[in-house]
Amino acid sequence: MKTHIYDFDLAQWQEYLRTKGYPAYRARQIFEWLHRHMVSSPQECHNLPTELRQLLEEEFHWPGGEEIRSLQSSDGTVKFLIAFSQRKVIETVWLPYPNRQSLCVSVQAGCSLNCRFCATGKIPFGGNLTTGEILTQFYLTQRTMQKKVTNVVFMGMGEPFYNYEATIKAAFLMHSTLGQSVGARHITISTAGVLPAVERFYQEKNPFGLALSVHAVFPEKRREIMDIEKKYPLQDLLKVLRQYRDRIRKNRFTFEYIMIRKFNMYREDAQKLAELAREFRAKINLIPLHTRFYGMEPPSEEEQNLFFKWLYEEGVLARNRRSPGKDIEAACGMLAAGKLQTNLLASLIQ
Ligand code: SF4
Repeated sequence: MKTHIYDFDLAQWQEYLRTKGYPAYRARQIFEWLHRHMVSSPQECHNLPTELRQLLEEEFHWPGGEEIRSLQSSDGTVKFLIAFSQRKVIETVWLPYPNRQSLCVSVQAGCSLNCRFCATGKIPFGGNLTTGEILTQFYLTQRTMQKKVTNVVFMGMGEPFYNYEATIKAAFLMHSTLGQSVGARHITISTAGVLPAVERFYQEKNPFGLALSVHAVFPEKRREIMDIEKKYPLQDLLKVLRQYRDRIRKNRFTFEYIMIRKFNMYREDAQKLAELAREFRAKINLIPLHTRFYGMEPPSEEEQNLFFKWLYEEGVLARNRRSPGKDIEAACGMLAAGKLQTNLLASLIQ
């Protein structure tokens, strides 16, 4: 299989061109065409010699062959469905805000973790995305929407730390000043808590924000909704995180917490969550469960407000992320749930 044209970083382009007998400055030219100008064809790279353009065409996979569908929500959120192949179908969500544009990217087609409240884990797993496929989501949506992406969250389909190398490399390429220059503080990688990868992330001193999917603070409850708790218990993860407390406090650190009615919204849950947030100076993102799902119920507005108030009384400020894109099944935990995917898959199979 050919390497995706967006897969290489600058050092890899330098090495590739050296082996092909081209001068080093061509690497920077190619890198800028790809990652600053986001070209999807070698013919657009005007200052490259014809034979080099031909070589790039022959030896690399270029974007452009993907099947794409999109749906726009009444609140402006746009969900893109991108099929890299019949098996590799993913969703990307464009989230417009008054002063910024956020993009929620996927790193896997499906997810092997199967959290109970999440639709993504319920579809057949189609494998890891390459760095180039992750970047394609960025460049394609930015070109389509004709607005600059200012924030990227790796919170779409899949567990980023089960596709660690491709994820981190994609984040660095988005951050590159020769490319789109997204600030490191505006790039957030989420994880359900893959302990060895979290440790690696901090050992490597990555500059990006980390969002930990906590969702329940007591082990028995967390085990009920997240299989990963059996393999990497939250308690063990927190012990490791304590070793990197200074680093964590420097970068952005967030707890994601899905609110499920009569399950994880009691006062003791709020107290324990607040205690952890204070210890790590973590921000808390509260996400209401959107629909009835596998015996779980969404909280009422009053229940959400009460949980928020308890956290506030404990001295921590939580943000209630009120489900952008809910009407098009683009909200957290809903990716892969919808008709868009069914329609696209049907058209691919025809
Ligand atoms: S919540 Fe995240 S980690 Fe859990 S199944 Fe869904 S995509 Fe995977």
